[in-house]
Amino acid sequence: MPSFYEFALVCQALGQTQSRLQMAELAGEFLARLDPGEAAIAARFMVGRTLAQGGTARLQVSGRAVWKIVAAMTGGADQGEEIFAAAVDFGEAIAMLLRLRPAEPEPALTLAEVARGFIEMAEIEGRNSRRRKLDALRALFERMSVLEGQYLAKVLIGEMRHGMSEGLMLEAIAKMAARPVAEVRRINMLEGDVGRVVRALREPSSVLGPQTTAPDAPARDAAADAAAETVAAIARPAQSAPRDGARQIRPIKPMLAQPAPNVAEVFRLLGDRLALEHKLDGARVQIHCADGAVRIYSRRLNEITASLPEVVESAARIGPRRAIFDGEVIAVDAAGRPLAFQEVMRRFGRVHDVERMRDAQPVALYLFDLMALDGELLIDAPYAERYAALTEIAETHGLGVAGHCTPASLAEGQQFYARAIAVGYEGIVAKALASTYMPGVRGRGWLKIKSVRTLDLVIVAAEWGYGRRHGWLSNYHLAARDERDGALIAVGKTFKGLTDDDFRAMTERLLALKTGEQGGRVSVRPEVVVEVAYSDIQRSPQYAGGMALRFARIVGVRSDKGADEADTIATVAAAFDRQPVRPAADRA
Ligand code: AMP
Repeated sequence: MPSFYEFALVCQALGQTQSRLQMAELAGEFLARLDPGEAAIAARFMVGRTLAQGGTARLQVSGRAVWKIVAAMTGGADQGEEIFAAAVDFGEAIAMLLRLRPAEPEPALTLAEVARGFIEMAEIEGRNSRRRKLDALRALFERMSVLEGQYLAKVLIGEMRHGMSEGLMLEAIAKMAARPVAEVRRINMLEGDVGRVVRALREPSSVLGPQTTAPDAPARDAAADAAAETVAAIARPAQSAPRDGARQIRPIKPMLAQPAPNVAEVFRLLGDRLALEHKLDGARVQIHCADGAVRIYSRRLNEITASLPEVVESAARIGPRRAIFDGEVIAVDAAGRPLAFQEVMRRFGRVHDVERMRDAQPVALYLFDLMALDGELLIDAPYAERYAALTEIAETHGLGVAGHCTPASLAEGQQFYARAIAVGYEGIVAKALASTYMPGVRGRGWLKIKSVRTLDLVIVAAEWGYGRRHGWLSNYHLAARDERDGALIAVGKTFKGLTDDDFRAMTERLLALKTGEQGGRVSVRPEVVVEVAYSDIQRSPQYAGGMALRFARIVGVRSDKGADEADTIATVAAAFDRQPVRPAADRA
């Protein structure tokens, strides 16, 4: 049976399985049956990713484009409304379109062929690139049976709807390789892509190179191997990287911070062995320096080196040394004063007009961590040690470091926070001196305190506006993430906070993500994350999570965050619990 069809069958079975354990077993057994290359592809596809994370390639095909291609191919364009009303999700809607064909092709494609198709499409550039890309996609759909096409559509829009989160996929990979889950998680922290995790476990030689794996060598510890590879990559001069790019220096997932309500709580949770830092309102960057070459990655591990030449120039000051820095890039005005988050995003990922934008919107780099130095991976060293090494290298080479203090008492900590807010920072980040750098983990090592109550929420639907907002999608349905299963739980709606231009841009963005429409309510693929300020949280039986934000207002679009990084329903519940008790008359 061709492997893409088999993949679709397994996904379908996953959708009918409730137990996490059974899901992990089912997926793990399937991955184990495939050869390593195809297993890596299947792992990615199963969590709704078309390409490996961390590269520069982007597919950029919207749900709307997929719908149009398949509707044109099958002649079902005029049945859109009925199909969307009847289908449970986008994949099923595409399946319904595909059933309109007079004949269904036999399954024929392998996972490797589909993956190659995605890579080729992502590489299409130049004249008519959009049309050529869509033609290539249509050719793929034309060769697919209904079930394959249904799952191709799901992978393309990243909405699998079978409950296989990245965390559960790591459990499946652990089953595949018969390794402890903790070890697999650790490799994922370093590899930053489930496909590469599969390869690291199944084919350590593909990661390490043949010289390190003599046929009779004892089985090596895979986590140690992956760590060794990262170190080797740091140690390897960038110029000597093979031309195929397969062994570039890889970005490591950034460590994340948990929210905390105030400084006293931070002291209670971390004790007094902590440091406090200014929380800069910019965009996260990871900077890899090796022998004078600099690469910059975004929070989502996309390479953005070309967009930020002045950051490259700053980091290049460390000369031939090798390092991986963690930090924040903020937008500044002509006098060097910080500007709001939205401004910095005008620079991120930009490939055209970079020099003009460099003048129009200058940025500044502030470092706050050091993950590797001179070929040594530091993520297992305590924060205090990493920070000491960071300040040393930053001072030597004139690099900016986020404002920092190690308070001797709670009162000193509170003063640091009060001053930070007075000067205009969005808050502070508290860091346990003994904490290691935990890639991709939102643990207790880092706690963020913000002055304004905001949540980062995902837009899951929008309503057509009326009156002045006629023609725009304006009332946005906001959802928080359930960490246990990745579900999105609505916690409020708002049309406040956006300018007319913002509404126009948001309408266009959401229409490209549209998956259905009913009674003026447009459902969208959950990809847009917005920062939402609110007055307080009410109990509300109308909402599935039992809570709703009052006086919600959008304060910015978090284009650096994906839905998987939105705030969780547990965070909303914690914010609800922390609210001062209000008079009975005011309670819902
Ligand atoms: P949030 O975006 O609200 O989840 O807050 C966490 C983010 O704050 C991190 O991902 C960083 O981009 C940013 N940040 C700003 N300053 C710091 C700092 N000193 N330490 C760690 N993260 C920081």
